[in-house]
Amino acid sequence: MSIIHSPQSLEQTNIEWFIEAIKEYNPAANLAPIYESYSFSKMKHEGQFRKSGDPYFIHCMGTARNLIEWRMDVDTIAAGFLHDVLEDTDTIPEELREKFGEEITHIVEGVSKISLLPFRGIESQAENFRKMILAMSKDIRVTLIKLADRLHNMRTLEYLPHRSQLRIAGETLDIYGPLAQRLGMAEVSAELQDISFKYLNKEIHQELEERVEKEIKDRGKYIENLSQVIAETLKQSGLNCKVKGRRKSLYSIYQKMQSRDIPFEDIHDLFAFRVLVDTVGDCYAGLGMIHSRWKPVPGKIKDYIATPKTNGYQSLHTTVIGPGGKPLEIQIRTQEMHEVAEHGIAAHWRYKEGSTASAEDARFLWLRRIVEDMQELKNPRHFMESVKLELFPEEVYVFTPKGEVKGLPKGATPIDFAYSIHTEVGHQCIGAKVNGATVPLKEELKSGDIVEIITRSGSNPSRDWLRFAKSSRARGKIRHWIREAEREESIQLGQDLLEGEIQERRLDINMKKLLKSDELLEAANELNLTSIDDLLAHLGYGKVSAPHVINLIAPESIEKPAAKPAQSDKTLRQKLKGSVKVGGLGQQFIRFAKCCNPIPGDEIVGYITRGRGVTVHRANCPEISGDTERIIQTQWEDEKESVYTVEISIESDDRKGMLAEVTAAIAKESVNIESGNISTADAKAATSFTVQVNDLDHLSRLMDSISKIKGIKKVERKN
Ligand code: MN
Repeated sequence: MSIIHSPQSLEQTNIEWFIEAIKEYNPAANLAPIYESYSFSKMKHEGQFRKSGDPYFIHCMGTARNLIEWRMDVDTIAAGFLHDVLEDTDTIPEELREKFGEEITHIVEGVSKISLLPFRGIESQAENFRKMILAMSKDIRVTLIKLADRLHNMRTLEYLPHRSQLRIAGETLDIYGPLAQRLGMAEVSAELQDISFKYLNKEIHQELEERVEKEIKDRGKYIENLSQVIAETLKQSGLNCKVKGRRKSLYSIYQKMQSRDIPFEDIHDLFAFRVLVDTVGDCYAGLGMIHSRWKPVPGKIKDYIATPKTNGYQSLHTTVIGPGGKPLEIQIRTQEMHEVAEHGIAAHWRYKEGSTASAEDARFLWLRRIVEDMQELKNPRHFMESVKLELFPEEVYVFTPKGEVKGLPKGATPIDFAYSIHTEVGHQCIGAKVNGATVPLKEELKSGDIVEIITRSGSNPSRDWLRFAKSSRARGKIRHWIREAEREESIQLGQDLLEGEIQERRLDINMKKLLKSDELLEAANELNLTSIDDLLAHLGYGKVSAPHVINLIAPESIEKPAAKPAQSDKTLRQKLKGSVKVGGLGQQFIRFAKCCNPIPGDEIVGYITRGRGVTVHRANCPEISGDTERIIQTQWEDEKESVYTVEISIESDDRKGMLAEVTAAIAKESVNIESGNISTADAKAATSFTVQVNDLDHLSRLMDSISKIKGIKKVERKN
């Protein structure tokens, strides 16, 4: 086994361990600075102790050991041992310069300069980033040491007082985690996030951990077998490969639950498989073999080899339908890509002595841009905007009126912003101002925008928002709300349907009592449902019929043959008490049928559409047939401001000025024309208009005044 990954504790680690570990990956290294920095740091920190009771030097070893795991060069590891001597001991830079030379001293000074201010408000946030970026642009190794230092501190966070734990965990989640991510250090970033999560959300973290552990117990064998099956599939075709099943990080699972608003049970990808092969060609060949064995899920195939991520990450990703119909997530990459994926920038940097990973390097163009901006952008807000833009290119950064920064996915709208503040702000959002000007809710936000959300209590989300909400958080919250509201509506509809059926059969059943009765619950159980509400919701969705349910609770009553809906309209009105109002609350669940375009004043009926609410038809619409239990009484509510679309056709003489007169008549009745269509033949004209009217009265007035125009033969409402 590699000495670097030996499970030895830090207390057992000594200078020999460090020397052997470095030799393992860098046999030609000049090890003198390692010996010297080790003993210098140990001597300087002598008598100092950590909160854990450990000698302080343990922390220096922990930091250096992380750097060795990332296979860093000797100077960086030496600077790792020394990273705290300037700040926490009486050592002065000259002493270091004399003993270790310019390069190592420079790195140690760089690390010492980034002692972060408490992370609060945009000014100190900007200042922190400024320091970090400046040091990083001079030598990227400064940041790597800072990350190694933070990683060891996070691993030993349990010994600090609670308040410090929260502050440090928050800062890690806000700054160091994303920074590691941007540098492509996936493994480090995941560990930093997981530990922060553990301290910031103790209970949820613990619960998740227990659940995942249980899954591993239950499915560990399955995962292992599956790894073998994948490996054999590839080996049969002559591919040399290594396959590993791995658990996803708890924080990433938690983020998914949060952003999609789904419970743990609905997360199906707790595990993922990683396939390591020899060459780029083997990656594609392997993907082909996996796809020929299991069906890939469309839209889940990602080629990050041809188009690497901005942080240099390369791999092929796919999700296939595996054994038992369960989705399997598989990543395929070469060993080299794997190194980059785990260690990111550190893998590029490595122990190549003499190379400098500074802002001059093409890979760090983004870093150079930030440094340039830094000199120009004195305003902390503008500076932060530019930093984040470069650090997280897939996001936009906008501000609350109080100057708080919010990161949103590219293409985000005020709706996304509203939900990023609070779920209720999102739900009750009715408008937005960007940089002081009112904008539509679907306006795309740009980095630097100051966004203000206008809310009205009692206002509700609209299904429409899903068309332009970008963030998974907003989309999840909107979907969740719609599901809940649909369920409530469905339960109400279910009650109405049940009551209608009871009256139809003239049964002596008290509705109120029935809704709390054991009989109804038993009926629900018989249908594999666990509660009465579930049963009512199923009724409302049209998944089960009211006669079926009544047959279960009153088998002796007779089910009457279905009446024709056109005739039964009146009976329906009598028998169904609770009526769906059109134009009132819950309007997002009511749609108007395109076949007959009902308008207020028309006799109407509602038709329950599976899982979608109610479609309103004119009562005599021929599209309504059979299935009477899906018809529900529908009434117009008084609402003057609504407009309804209706199509009228006009037959007339084809004479000069006719069209102008007709449109004038339409305008005089304050009717909007949506579209029009004219055809003429044999001195006759056939015109049709799609217009918007308030109700049936309004339409009659309009048709009246058109008929009065000279030369009009016929005015008709279509359908
Ligand atoms: Mn430290």
